[in-house]
Amino acid sequence: LHAQFSHMKLAFYEEKLEQQFLRQHLLCGQLRDALHKAELSLHYQPQIDMLTGSVVGAEALLRWTDALAGEMSPKEFISVAEKSGLIKPLNLWVMRAAFRQWLLWREEGLDISIAINLSVRSICDPELLTDIHRLLDEFAVPPEYVVLELTESAFANTTDIAMETLRSLHSMGFRLSVDDFGSGHLPLSQLKDLAINELKIDHELIHSLCTDMGSYAVVDACIQLAHQLHLRVVAEGVEARQTEQQLQAMGCDMAQGYYFCKPIPADAFSTWMHLRESRMESALSG
Ligand code: C2E
Ligand code: MG
Ligand code: MG
Ligand code: MG
Repeated sequence: LHAQFSHMKLAFYEEKLEQQFLRQHLLCGQLRDALHKAELSLHYQPQIDMLTGSVVGAEALLRWTDALAGEMSPKEFISVAEKSGLIKPLNLWVMRAAFRQWLLWREEGLDISIAINLSVRSICDPELLTDIHRLLDEFAVPPEYVVLELTESAFANTTDIAMETLRSLHSMGFRLSVDDFGSGHLPLSQLKDLAINELKIDHELIHSLCTDMGSYAVVDACIQLAHQLHLRVVAEGVEARQTEQQLQAMGCDMAQGYYFCKPIPADAFSTWMHLRESRMESALSG
């Protein structure tokens, strides 16, 4: 009976794998098409300086709305793109779109930096530096205004070549950020040797900040550690006023999350910025 049961379990497992494979294969084809059609876009989420309350940055987040399937989750399609050869054109598309947007905002008078997410695969690509140099020739965005976000696990799993690439980007003036910090993949001892500028504390820790003493202790330690290493700290996933106030009291430098604003299209972003500015001005004068 036991053998029969294992066999059934295996068959079930194989079927699930097959479904998963099919889905990934389908997604891959759709994504390839999406790159050529106009189905991809970037949304932007404001990043707030906790000391002054002003918006100092925008994180670009990739969106894909398939004509049939609707909105797709970036977590899912980016992992599919990473396994196929699609991550490279996808990443180039994102960087080009974000640089172009930064220049448009600049013309409008917005003085903010732009944060772009990079995947592990992208930084392991030996051509990344050449591609980025080419983009800088085309768009002339000062690297000091560009934050490149890499997840903690990406930093933990890089090769020597990738480390060299990161160091080059850092010395070109790009800001490097460890995304999802505290989600548990990067040895702390490695942190001091990385060419980075920023830690971005994982949203799960931030969510439980005000309800769980353990989370409070870890976030507090992250902030102290970052500051001792002369890094800037950003809290992601701030959803409540109470969390904002707590982070402020703890000395966190920057925050982003639904409490301030969800990720929104570029034109909505500038409208939101102008509204916020005029509201802050009238609050100051009245
Ligand atoms: P991430 O870089 O850590 O981005 C933060 C995610 O949290 C985003 O999800 C954002 O929409 C969401 N978020 C922001 N504020 C809140 C909040 O207050 N509460 C909650 N619950 N969520 C919040 P999204 O857009 O679905 O992206 C998921 C992940 O996909 C990103 O995580 C990033 O790792 C990856 N990703 C997104 N765009 C790109 C891209 O252009 N390139 C690469 N390589 N990865 C990307
Ligand atoms: Mg990010
Ligand atoms: Mg994150
Ligand atoms: Mg995340």
